Amino acid sequence: MPISHNTDVLIIGAGLAGLSAANDLQQAGYRVMVVDKGRGLGGRLAGRRIGDATFDHGAQFMTARESRFKAEVESWIKAGVAEEWYSSYPGQPNGHPRYRGVPTMTAVAKHLAIDINVIRATRVDAISSQQTSWLAELDNGDTVTANKLLITSPVPQTIDLLATGNIAVPADKQARLNRIQYESCLAVMATLDGPTTIEAPGAIALENGPIAWISDNLQKGVSKIPAVTIHGSGEFSAKHFEQDRMAMGQQLIDAAAPYLGIAKVTEYQVHGWLYSKPTIVDEAPCILLSEATSLPPLALAGDAFAGPRFEGAVQSGWAAAKALMGAN
Ligand SMILES: Cc1cc2nc3c(=O)[nH]c(=O)nc-3n(C[C@H](O)[C@H](O)[C@H](O)COP(=O)(O)OP(=O)(O)OC[C@H]3O[C@@H](n4cnc5c(N)ncnc54)[C@H](O)[C@@H]3O)c2cc1C
Repeated sequence: MPISHNTDVLIIGAGLAGLSAANDLQQAGYRVMVVDKGRGLGGRLAGRRIGDATFDHGAQFMTARESRFKAEVESWIKAGVAEEWYSSYPGQPNGHPRYRGVPTMTAVAKHLAIDINVIRATRVDAISSQQTSWLAELDNGDTVTANKLLITSPVPQTIDLLATGNIAVPADKQARLNRIQYESCLAVMATLDGPTTIEAPGAIALENGPIAWISDNLQKGVSKIPAVTIHGSGEFSAKHFEQDRMAMGQQLIDAAAPYLGIAKVTEYQVHGWLYSKPTIVDEAPCILLSEATSLPPLALAGDAFAGPRFEGAVQSGWAAAKALMGAN
């Protein structure tokens, strides 16, 4: 029997932007419902297991620049869901600290979702404006009526969702959305029969060639057994995104050989991130799409707005929550 839900604010996406906004809105007294098509929480903070191996295969770490975000990271460290991973690795000068989730990056998302009503494994198929409220149709047949709506999906998906409801987006805002671009990433998760030769702290960023990043999940403390995550570069991933995934994964494994020493790959899987990191972002921390229109309050957030990374996604969520609180 389909259910008709009702809430003050519906948030599409339980990634960092959606969950950060949800916490601020709930704290301010709003009833919040978050819907995500993924089985897990965190969106591009993603973990996977292969046998005894565990992988972070989306975001690898976070940096903290702005004061509220720094305080937030401190609170996660106190809660035991984050810790400093490193501030430099061989060949790199000392930089600002890189923090990781504990035991995996998704721990931060799980922590942010503790008090939030999240409906998982459920896609919002369509949205439409009903004069003073929003109606969302879910793929399980349920509907949600909400006074305010926040969409945090990658922007090309948001553009498609807006089109489902014939939502009249002001031309200047549509142009800003159309400008945003992302790079893709082919991510290989490989279990090994022995340790890698990657030096502490177990991560390497590469400037040239098919690989952008390799991390040793055993050294990082994510995996109990030797296991690497290999991220294809933006160029490699774009060129080969539609080709046979396992064959492309093997190419990346071959290119990673100098870092694996005598260890042999025993098993591997490949995940394709179509929208991995934004390469062209909007200058604003979020967009209040309903501003100066007759639409009910509608905001867009995510890492395409406040900055193309973990911290940017959180800050965009906070900015969108504030914008929605002020919108009627
Ligand atoms: C391979 C990779 C490596 C990265 N490395 C780093 C790194 O080391 N450091 C760093 O700072 N950042 C990194 N990033 C970027 C970082 O992960 C992102 O900036 C951040 O997680 C984005 O959060 P978000 O909330 O904006 O979006 P997302 O995490 O994408 O959340 C959006 C959510 O919306 C959901 N959704 C979309 N459409 C619908 C729908 N119709 N119905 C229901 N749900 C929907 C999705 O399932 C998703 O969970 C990396 C990303 C990738 C992919």
